[in-house]
Order: sequence, then C-alpha cells, then structure tokens
Amino acid sequence: MASAPAASPASSVRVRFCPSPTGNPHVGLVRTALFNWAFARHHGGTLVFRIEDTDAARDSEESYEALLDAMRWLGFDWDEGPEVGGPHAPYRQSQRMEVYADVARRLQERGFAYPCYCTTQELDERREAARAAGKPSGYDGKCRDLRPEQIEAYEREGRTPIIRFRMPDEPITFTDLVRGELTFTPENVSDYGIVRANGAPLYTLVNPVDDALMEITHVLRGEDLLSSTPRQIALYAALAEIGVGNGTTPQFGHLPYVMGDGNKKLSKRDPQSSLNLYRERGFLPEGLLNYLSLLGWSLAEDRDIFSMDEMIAAFDIKDVNANPARFDIKKAEAINAVHLRELAPDEFVRRLAPYLFDEEPTAEQLELLAEAAPLTQERMVVLSEVRGMLGFLFVKPEDFRVDEADAAKVLNQDAAPVLDASVKALESLGDYTAEPIQAVLREALVDGLGLKPKHAFTPLRVAVTGRRVSPPLFESMELLGREETLRRLRAALDAITA
Ligand code: GLU
Ligand code: ZN
Repeated sequence: MASAPAASPASSVRVRFCPSPTGNPHVGLVRTALFNWAFARHHGGTLVFRIEDTDAARDSEESYEALLDAMRWLGFDWDEGPEVGGPHAPYRQSQRMEVYADVARRLQERGFAYPCYCTTQELDERREAARAAGKPSGYDGKCRDLRPEQIEAYEREGRTPIIRFRMPDEPITFTDLVRGELTFTPENVSDYGIVRANGAPLYTLVNPVDDALMEITHVLRGEDLLSSTPRQIALYAALAEIGVGNGTTPQFGHLPYVMGDGNKKLSKRDPQSSLNLYRERGFLPEGLLNYLSLLGWSLAEDRDIFSMDEMIAAFDIKDVNANPARFDIKKAEAINAVHLRELAPDEFVRRLAPYLFDEEPTAEQLELLAEAAPLTQERMVVLSEVRGMLGFLFVKPEDFRVDEADAAKVLNQDAAPVLDASVKALESLGDYTAEPIQAVLREALVDGLGLKPKHAFTPLRVAVTGRRVSPPLFESMELLGREETLRRLRAALDAITA
C-alpha cells in the first residue's frame, strides 16, 4: 500500500472521513473511507480523519476503537486525526463542544438561526395537516420571527427551545461531482434544527462547522446524505458571514447507493455489511478494498483486479458512476482469490498463520506451513479455509478425526483391502516422498487390485486428511510423514474391521 506523503501536502486538496462511532464498521463506511483516501492520495492532498461522536446516547468508546483498528487493518493512513494529531485538533467532536456552542450563539446573534419553541406534538399535528392538504410537510416557519413577548410567554410556560437554522428563500443549486447540477427549492428544504432543547449540537451543525474550520475542499460521502447538502451549503454561507472557516464552500460528490439482496439498499444491519465478517473469513484487505472500489468506480472497462497503488494513480471522482451499485459477495470472493494467488509465498504464509494457529506457532509449525501452503494457494478463496485444508497436518495425533459423513461414504468394507495394501506398500517404501509414494500406491492399488484411481485414492484421502476434499494426496502424505500416515491408515482400517 502507498504510504502517506504526510509532511507537506503537494496540493490544497483536503478531504475528510468522519464516521460516527456507533456499532461495528460496515462496508459502506469502508467504501467512503476508501474513496476519500484514494482521492487525497491521488492529488497529493490531505486526509482528515474526524470522529463525529456528539451523540452520547449512541456513540461508544468500543466502537471508536473498532474504527481505528479497522482503518489500520485496511492499510489506510491519515494525515490529521486520532493518534497523529494536526493543526485543527482535537479531531473528536466530543472534545469540541465549546466551538459549536460559540458558533450557535453567533448564528443566532446575526439572525441566521432562531429559537423554535414548538413541541414535538405541535410539529407532528401541523405536519399531518400540511400533508392532508397536499402541501410541503417540512417545518412551517412558525417561530421564524417571534416577538420578544411571545418568547417570554413560551419561556414562562416552561418550554425549552431548539435552535433552528433559517434557510434562504431562494433555490440552492450546486454541481455535484458525481451527479452534475442539482437544484433544491425552498419548499423542499425547510428550516432545520441545529441544537437540541438540552443544548446538544446536532450533526447538521457540527459537521459543516468542522468542515469549514478544517478547510475541507471536497466532501465525498454516500448518497443518503444528499438531502443535507443544500442545508449545509446555506449554513456555509452563514459561517462565512460570521467568520468561521476561510469562507469557501467545499465541492460535494455523493457516492451511489449500494444495493444488497433483493435489490434493497444494503443496510448497516445486514450481516454481509459487517467488516468483521470479512476479517474473520480471511479476506485480504487489498482484496476487499479492490472489490469495494468497484462499487461505483472502475479502473478500466475490462479490469477488475488491481492494486491500491493503481487505484490511487487512476482515481478521479468524475469517473464515479451515479447509478446504484450492486453488492455481490461472490464477486468479492473471486477478486480476493486472485489477490491471494498473487501473494509471494512467504507473505502468503505470514497471512495464513493467524487463521490456522490459535497460539503463537513454533518454528517447526511455521516451517511445515511454508511447505504445505503452496498446495493450497491456488485453491483458496479466503484465508480461513486454511483450517479445513491444512488442519490435518497440525492436529495432535490424538485429536485427529475424520469427517463422519465422508467416512460413512467411503470408509466401508470395500475400503479395507485398499487401506491394507496401502499400509504394506508404504511400510516398505524406501524414499518417502510424493513421487515414489504415488508410484508405489498406483502399483499396489490400480495395478495390483485393479481399481480405478478415484476408487483407490478417495478412501486414502479421507483416512489421511480427514476429508474427501484436500490438497494433493501424495504431497499431503509426504508432509504428514510416514509414521503418522501409517497410523491414520491403520486406524481407519481398524475402524472398518472392528
Ligand atoms: N458522521 C456522519 C456519518 O457517519 C458523516 C456524514 C458526512 O460525511 O457528512 O454519517
Ligand atoms: Zn417553532
């Protein structure tokens, strides 16, 4: 993966990845991080990693740690943010509360925002009535211009206001980097809350305030946030008026929806959204990222497989497709398999080891894994398959078990002479390596017993590796060693004849 040109960015591009630490990281989040990272690196710009944790009821420290861990595992680096600091620290919004309180106060002083005393029930009733009358159902502006006596009266009633931002009365037009020119009319974007009645600032305020203060130039995020963009653009203009930030509005690009099963939007709660699932199954970060990059983007028409360096070199937000992307786990697996095959042998072993050993492996175990790994590299889709494929080489003799269903199919009376002849042939074999093993077994079983190779070798495979699907049989026998191979063949034979 590319490393950070951290010290002095070559361009003024500043993008941000600003998740809220709720729940476990999901693939939608990873795609957003990826596109921002690729954009920043392509332009030699700056990636700001900001944590939007102002919602105490939903955010958690555990989720914050999981986010950082996910970013590291994926191989992303950031130029400003947690652990690296930066000129706009702190990068956790929970530590910036005075900033937001101050901005909210100044927005009110200048009339860009106002207190709204409507209760939820009142708002609901008016919304219903507007709907019934076929009118726009957003906030109706009731508290826009309250007179001081009205405010006093509300306060005497014990009402506590929220703070609302006053939207301009003209349409808002902007050019989305992905979707082109978009216009939002005032009827469809009403005044919106920026501070709760208890004083807690909302996403609608803190996100654009920090984008302004952190001088973000490009906002790349999911299409689900498109409706907040006209609001934020209006807020930016107000922030410029009160001197928050450098007075420019970022450009926006909204990444397409990702559709899951049944052509429904992939939701955070879908099991297949969970990043942990991919880590546990043993996706390579580069395989997963390669796949996720295809959700809305492509390197070239006929190229599905590429490295992150290649993506960075080619990435242009203008090439992102506005149409919904379809999440296809089979394709993700196929892409991962290619990246697995491309790993250098020692690197492949390094990545496999944690999926095979529960404890720190010994030098001997690693050596055996290094010899066995090439037998599986071409056949593997995800690293967690290693247990099924190579576990038989590493179990203690007393813990070795054959798969019951496979045994029931092939380790029957017919297999007894096969196992018996194999034991005899291998006992007297001089050079116990794959080729002579194969030769002597063919001679004993195919020539000697007149069996078809499939019938001859399947019982051996199950007896020795425990399963009907395994790495190549003769290499497996060699790696297992003569003693243990014979022990397993005899044990299978005993089980049949017992
Ligand atoms: N914290 C917001 C989220 O996770 C950020 C959205 C944005 O990029 O503006 O949805
Ligand atoms: Zn109101």
